[in-house]
Amino acid sequence: MAGKRDRVQVMAGLLLGVTALCSLTLLLAAGTSAVQTFAGAHTAIQATAAPQPLRGLTIAVDAGHGGYDGGAVGRVSGVAEKGLNLDVALHVQKLLLAHGADVVMTRTDDYALCDDDPPIRKKLQDMQRRAEIIRINDADMVISIHMNEYAGRSESGPQVFYREGCPAGRLLAGAIQEAMIRGLRPDKERTALGGDYYILTLGVPSVLVECGFLSNREEEARLMQEDYRRLAAQSIVQGVLDWQALKMEKPGALAAVDRSGEETGD
Ligand SMILES: [Zn+2]
Repeated sequence: MAGKRDRVQVMAGLLLGVTALCSLTLLLAAGTSAVQTFAGAHTAIQATAAPQPLRGLTIAVDAGHGGYDGGAVGRVSGVAEKGLNLDVALHVQKLLLAHGADVVMTRTDDYALCDDDPPIRKKLQDMQRRAEIIRINDADMVISIHMNEYAGRSESGPQVFYREGCPAGRLLAGAIQEAMIRGLRPDKERTALGGDYYILTLGVPSVLVECGFLSNREEEARLMQEDYRRLAAQSIVQGVLDWQALKMEKPGALAAVDRSGEETGD
């Protein structure tokens, strides 16, 4: 009987070995391709097996609005921008992590960062606290995720903004804008634009990505689809990868705006 049990154990050991080998082969095979797909970003094992071109970068991902502040509203569905932003932002986070970046999220659920009844404007306190999270974590880059709206319902297409006059932001925004056009194939192909947004003034390469227009019936329907939002997230991260792969000395960012004289809510 002992001999038989030994054989059974040997067989079990062999089977385990073969299974482990198969898994390893699968993982190795998935290593390079998994990184291109959202599915590849879900497990730590695949993330480790993937190339990590963003290692050493700390990237702040900012899901616009939240809590009391819903942001833009879908014309047809009534959906609030804040939830779509968070969904895209969480996809972007996973993909960036899979490519080796450290990621700082300004929010991870449906809340605003301001107090219920602050001594200053709620929106300003909310922005100050987002900025503070980004600053104390020493982020090298800021990606703020939003959905657009416009009075005219025909406007459509992803639109990436950078801080007006900031060469570093402009380069990054251009790379992400192009990647979104390639990835999402919008009817309207926009070019990156300079803009005046608080979140872009923290002294590092920064972009504000409007993934599409909730005021446009067709684009709203697309943005309501999870697959489309994943594709938007993939395209944003592809833009970061394209930027990272540029063989050039990248221009610096404009210095952070000095807000020391600004009223604080704390
Ligand atoms: Zn917004």
